[in-house]
Amino acid sequence: MHLMENLRSEDDCRLFLENVRWQGTPVCPHCGSISDKHHRLKTQGTFNGLYKCKDCRKRFTVTVGTMFEGSHITLLKWFYAIYVFLSHKKGISSTQLSKDINVTQKTAWFILARIRCNMKECERVLFDGIVQMDETYVGGKNKGRFKNNLGRSIKQKTPVVGVLTGDRVIAMVVPDTTRRTLHTIIYGLIKPGSTIVTDEWPAYNGLSNEYVHETVEHNLRQYVNNAGFHTNGIEGFWSHLKRGLKGIYHFVKPKYLQMYCNEFAYRYTTRKMHDAERFIQFLSRSTVRCRYSDLQLNIM
Ligand SMILES: [Zn+2]
Repeated sequence: MHLMENLRSEDDCRLFLENVRWQGTPVCPHCGSISDKHHRLKTQGTFNGLYKCKDCRKRFTVTVGTMFEGSHITLLKWFYAIYVFLSHKKGISSTQLSKDINVTQKTAWFILARIRCNMKECERVLFDGIVQMDETYVGGKNKGRFKNNLGRSIKQKTPVVGVLTGDRVIAMVVPDTTRRTLHTIIYGLIKPGSTIVTDEWPAYNGLSNEYVHETVEHNLRQYVNNAGFHTNGIEGFWSHLKRGLKGIYHFVKPKYLQMYCNEFAYRYTTRKMHDAERFIQFLSRSTVRCRYSDLQLNIM
């Protein structure tokens, strides 16, 4: 049975979220107390999810500390938006969403932006083993890194650095692709002892000898080096990202690019999950609220 068929009312959604976040036993977000004995407060005779902590006496609901806190949009609408956005390979447009759940387009855009904010990886587990790394350029009109030193036009492309192991990828908007920037990313994200596979871009050179560095000579039309290493995974991700940005969003303002990189990296990393599994995992860790002001909103 389709998961969403079980979520037909506000109560269904609240109970579902309580199960995902608390596994059945309410947790006070103020003092951390976990208990079945928290008081269930009723409003006009009915209980609709408001608890009072038995220890610190403060009130809470399951949405405190989540992306839903303080929202005037019903959980039913949020859940629909999240489910559809995560399940469709290409997401959903704010215009379509506004029709589906009967909100304004501006509200729909905001819902989607808040979902995107929560597509970021929250646990910073270091990349390990054989790690592919590469940079690409998005938007603008110049031809990328080889022309970077010739002055910056307004149509400058934005550099993005990607790191990939197996099914997991992270894509970061960076100010430049200098040695300093790339090495900072490597030392921050990749575990010593790993093998880093890149192309021949010299900014990768000179790494600490705690890392093994393998290069693939793309300018010699080499796709797999003599030791069998390649960067096909990260290059596959770039084409996925670029096709996606072109197809759906037409033009992405640089200030929103990181948000879209997170979205595409998330889709890539979770692509083998079932829709229901992805939805539950998303709900279990969606804690970023990102308000209007955080987004520096401009409606696209
Ligand atoms: Zn408490």
